[in-house]
Amino acid sequence: MIIPKVSKLTPEQEAELIRVTGEFGVSLQTIRGESQTIYAMKGDETSELLVARIEGLEYIDRVDRIQTPYKLMARNNELSKHKIRVGSKIIGQDFVVMAGHCTIDPKNPTAFFETAMAVKEAGADVVRGGIWKPRTNPHSYQGDAQALDVLMDARAKTGLPVITEVMDEQQLVLAVERGVDMLQIGARNALNYSLLREVGRQVFGKPITVLLKRGMHMGRIEEFLLAAEYIVSGGNPNILLTPRGTLPAMDGYRNHPDECITPLLKEKTWAPVVVDPSHSVGKAAYVPFSALAAVAYGADGLIVETHVNPKTGIGDDPKQAITPEVLAKLIQDSRAVHAMMRGPVQLVAKG
Ligand code: PEP
Ligand code: MN
Repeated sequence: MIIPKVSKLTPEQEAELIRVTGEFGVSLQTIRGESQTIYAMKGDETSELLVARIEGLEYIDRVDRIQTPYKLMARNNELSKHKIRVGSKIIGQDFVVMAGHCTIDPKNPTAFFETAMAVKEAGADVVRGGIWKPRTNPHSYQGDAQALDVLMDARAKTGLPVITEVMDEQQLVLAVERGVDMLQIGARNALNYSLLREVGRQVFGKPITVLLKRGMHMGRIEEFLLAAEYIVSGGNPNILLTPRGTLPAMDGYRNHPDECITPLLKEKTWAPVVVDPSHSVGKAAYVPFSALAAVAYGADGLIVETHVNPKTGIGDDPKQAITPEVLAKLIQDSRAVHAMMRGPVQLVAKG
């Protein structure tokens, strides 16, 4: 990792840096953070001579050699200073809530608009709405690009940013072209390395924020962090980590709730943690318990399936969506618990 002394190198300085590292067979990946651009080295970066040559350039502060396999995601990486914003908030400092339908029903846009307004009223920062759905059963509803119009209308009506899942490059391009603010990579695609690389590129030069769910079979935390490393090493440092339950499920739950990995993540990485209690427990009545537990474990935010009338929803909504009234109380309680947990969370993050 090459850390310049200045926030941005001139094109001449960048060209010189590329030439110097190229002499050692090392190529560079530029990662543009909000306040500083840094460079990841690809190739054998262990040569003392290489490090000495780079550190000898007057505009370079230092070369950081991080020992963990996930170098960019590591807690002590320079990117820990990077700020990921949503609206007027900085995720990680301010508590954020994303809420809305699992799946937008394009035949019933009114329900989605009502939900979007109601989650805004309840205090949510981002509206969630699934357009393209990864369904276990190929005969189930798979999603519909028309729902993108509904999502963007809800964005205009509420003035809130929106998040949706993309499963391939075509969907990614469509969503970003239309102005979707945040992309979700779902649990099933958390190991789809070519997709992770694609969302890691700054799509159309936009530093789009990516919420990466933990794969349901990702036993090891390292696997989760390395999946995130794919995104960041593509040049996009705007990444959120989302535990959403793992398999095998805990008896009676949809998955094995895993909000308790939050302090572990905080110890190992700088990336904010936004927990998904909905898919973890899979039942609306249990969601507030799992959500508040996540906040007590130090989560920086929540993504919660919410519907004005869950019974009439599609996808997961009839089973696991909470109502905006429950969301309003949950957001209020979450903010109180979040404020209470600041001290312990900072202690863990310091290691
Ligand atoms: C979803 O958010 O609706 C979803 C399918 O989530 P996951 O990828 O966590 O199953
Ligand atoms: Mn869902």
